[in-house]
Amino acid sequence: MNLSMPEEQELIYHIDGSDRICAVGADWAEFALANDGTAALPEKVLGRSLWDFIEDANVRELYRQIVLRVRSGYPAQFEYRCDAPEWRRRFRMTIRAGKDGTVEFLSQLIRAEPRPRVDMLDVKATRSEQWVSVCGWCQKVALPDQSWVPVEEAAPHLGLLAEEALPKLTHGICPPCHLDMLTQLVPTDELPGHSPESDMSSVSDPMPDQGCLTSNHDEP
Ligand SMILES: [Zn+2]
Repeated sequence: MNLSMPEEQELIYHIDGSDRICAVGADWAEFALANDGTAALPEKVLGRSLWDFIEDANVRELYRQIVLRVRSGYPAQFEYRCDAPEWRRRFRMTIRAGKDGTVEFLSQLIRAEPRPRVDMLDVKATRSEQWVSVCGWCQKVALPDQSWVPVEEAAPHLGLLAEEALPKLTHGICPPCHLDMLTQLVPTDELPGHSPESDMSSVSDPMPDQGCLTSNHDEP
């Protein structure tokens, strides 16, 4: 792990039995501000439905399935990428059930490496009215032809000139990551020797956001 990353390396929040965000960890505000996720400050998040923060239909459905499974006794764990402009970052998400239908979402930074700045990820950048989808698991960006390219290469692929406003980002999931996640959701508890705790615990690259539930949620 790169030690020059900011201190905020854990992010935690809980939803209640009605899927409303009922608690956020102490690091939340600091993390949100560091990532300029002002929309994700605790006072703007608490009491709101988790689903308000997930725009993409595939991602929402995926999380609904995960939450359902978690509440039925199967903790979930997967890795995802959630970069900052100058950092390639990898997080591990652990989702587990608490009392009375509550569910805890814990994101832990597991790796960060510096890389040349990617303006596309700068939440302060001037944005056009165009929207592009970025995969909340691998950070690839969807092109108009439905292909996905690494975020570092997205601007030229989108035909953007240096002085042009960048498109707004919305978090989605690319087909390979979607397939990976769906594969992990296949019930495996009936397999011999398989314990619920080990479900979804070994995820191959690339595996968010919750991804980035904390940033870029500048809904239209
Ligand atoms: Zn992806």
